[in-house]
Amino acid sequence: MLEEIVAPLLAWYGENKRTLPWREDRNPYHIWLSEVMLQQTRVEAVKGYYERFLDRLPEVGDLAAVPEDELMKLWQGLGYYSRARNLKRAAAMIMDDYGGVFPEEYEEILRLPGIGAYTAGAVASMAFGKAVPAVDGNVYRVYTRLVRESGDITRGRVQKAIREEIGKIMPPEAPGEFNQAWMDLGAGVCIPVGDPLCGKCPLAEQCEARRAGDAILYPNKPKKKPRKREEKTVFILEYQGKYVLQKRPEQGLLAGLWEFPTQEGHLSLEEAGMLLREWGTWGEEVELLGSGKHIFTHIEWHMLGYLVHLKQLPWKETENLVLASREEIRRDFSIPSAYGVYLEQLMS
Ligand code: SF4
Repeated sequence: MLEEIVAPLLAWYGENKRTLPWREDRNPYHIWLSEVMLQQTRVEAVKGYYERFLDRLPEVGDLAAVPEDELMKLWQGLGYYSRARNLKRAAAMIMDDYGGVFPEEYEEILRLPGIGAYTAGAVASMAFGKAVPAVDGNVYRVYTRLVRESGDITRGRVQKAIREEIGKIMPPEAPGEFNQAWMDLGAGVCIPVGDPLCGKCPLAEQCEARRAGDAILYPNKPKKKPRKREEKTVFILEYQGKYVLQKRPEQGLLAGLWEFPTQEGHLSLEEAGMLLREWGTWGEEVELLGSGKHIFTHIEWHMLGYLVHLKQLPWKETENLVLASREEIRRDFSIPSAYGVYLEQLMS
C-alpha cells in the first residue's frame, strides 16, 4: 500500500519543489555542507552562510586545509560548532583516504566524522543517485501520520524500522527527488506546528491519520526534560581601546571559542568591584550593560553584563587571553552568539 504514494509524491515535488542554492547542482560537497548546516538551522538563515562558506572554501581540499580559527569565524552564528570541526575532519579524511574524491557508497559516507544515517542517505541519493532513504524530522512526521505509526520516534529501533519501510519503496530512477519530496512535503504541507494542510496534500487519499482525524497525535515523541538554568556574569573589559577575550576550554560547551571573561552567578555591582580587586585592578569605571539570555539544547544562560574601563591590565596576554580592537573582533574572532547581546552593544 505504501508504494501507492510514490507517483503522487514525485508528481507533487515536480511542481512544488523549493528553489534552494544547494539544489542547483549534484556536487556532493555542496549537498553535504548544506545538510550539515541545516541540521540545527532554518533554511533562510543557512543560505547566506552557505554562499559565504563556499566562496572562501570552494573545494573539499580547501576545507581540509582551512585554519581552525578561520573555520570558526565562517561558522560564527550558526552554533553547534562541533559540526564545523567534524566537517574539517571529514574533509581531511576524504583527501587522505579517497584522494580528494568524495566517496559514493552510503556505507563509506557514513564512516566520515559527523555524518549519520540521514546525511549519508541525503548525499548518496542526491549526489550519486543511490536508492537509500534520507529520513529527517520532516520525513518522520509525514510517515508516522501516513500510516499512524505510534512508536516513539526518538527510539533507534523505531527510526530504523521507518528507514527500512521507506527504503523498500525508493524509486531507483529518482531516489534523490523522492527523498527531497518527503522533506518538502513535511516542511510546507504536513507542517510541524498547527494543523497539517491536508487539503493541499498529494497523499491525502492514502493518509490514515487524515482519515482518522488525528494527525496532530503523530509523531509520538516523549516530552523533553526542562532545560537547566545557569546564571552568568559577563565582563566586557576595555583597556586602551581594546577588549579582553579569552579562549574557552577545548572540551565542553562552545569548546575552543573566544568569549568575554565570564563568571558563574549574577554578581551585583559591589561583587563585581570585589572581583576586579581580586583580579588585581581597582578604581575602575563600571557600567551595567543589562541582561541577556541564550538557549542551548539542554541549558539556558541568563546573563548579566558589565562594561569595565580598566586603568591597568591585570593579566599578561597569552595565546588564550588576548586584547583585540573592535575591528579585530569583527574580523578575526568567532564569538558565540550566546554573547550576541553584548557584542552588539560593543559594536554599536
Ligand atoms: Fe500530513 Fe495531512 Fe498529508 Fe496526511 S494528508 S500526510 S496528515 S498533510
